[in-house]
Amino acid sequence: MTRKPLIAANWKMYKTPQQAAEYFRAFLPLLGDHSRDDVAIFPPAPALFVALEASFGKFGVGAQNMHWLDEGAYTGEISAPMLRGAGCTHVLIGHSERRRHFGESDEQVHLKLAQALKHSLVPVVCVGESDAEREHGHTEDVLVRQISAAIGKLSAHQCAPLVIAYEPIWAIGTGKVATPHIAAEAHHTIREEVSRILGRAFAENLRILYGGSVKPDNIDALMNEPEIDGALVGGASLDPNGFSRIVRYSAS
Ligand code: PEP
Repeated sequence: MTRKPLIAANWKMYKTPQQAAEYFRAFLPLLGDHSRDDVAIFPPAPALFVALEASFGKFGVGAQNMHWLDEGAYTGEISAPMLRGAGCTHVLIGHSERRRHFGESDEQVHLKLAQALKHSLVPVVCVGESDAEREHGHTEDVLVRQISAAIGKLSAHQCAPLVIAYEPIWAIGTGKVATPHIAAEAHHTIREEVSRILGRAFAENLRILYGGSVKPDNIDALMNEPEIDGALVGGASLDPNGFSRIVRYSAS
């Protein structure tokens, strides 16, 4: 089974369009013609066009969030047809910062996923447990709940482009990276639940990324774990040198 890894950058609410342009001036020569892995960048919305112009099809570009309807009186929201029209290929859905700070529910994550799939965007759906949930032994329950809510009403055919990112909340922006073993256990739980819902063949092909304090100095160990099919990188993706080192992890 070969799953082409995806290395993705989540810039969160960092970088103006001018700073994004500066980033790509440094990043593009470092990326070169790298094709071993898929690469995607999720800039804030005002920098999407800068990223799209720089991408030349060498990497995917996506939004960090979107609404589940095509259009409407929803001030401040962005829709899937708008992202497609702009040229985006990907979208992040259900990031824990959106769940925590903006009250995004499991049901909304499901609606957004269905909408992204309907409009041929590659959805990267984020799941993961908090510190307290892990401490109380609820990791598996949380992952199963989040996964079944997201994909439970969808078919394997509909979900074909789906990517899942396992992002334990206790590891995001904290410097506390999950060990490859902890990440592999969680990825296994996720794959089993996906297999239960969408079938074994689908689950075996599904890319599951790890996210949470991924850095140039821990990416090699993570990517050498067969259950880990790529990374979603926050803080360390803001520096083009650091991110290009992460993209060029050494695989054994
Ligand atoms: C993220 O925002 O998805 C993330 C994983 O952040 P960080 O790499 O900074 O922990």
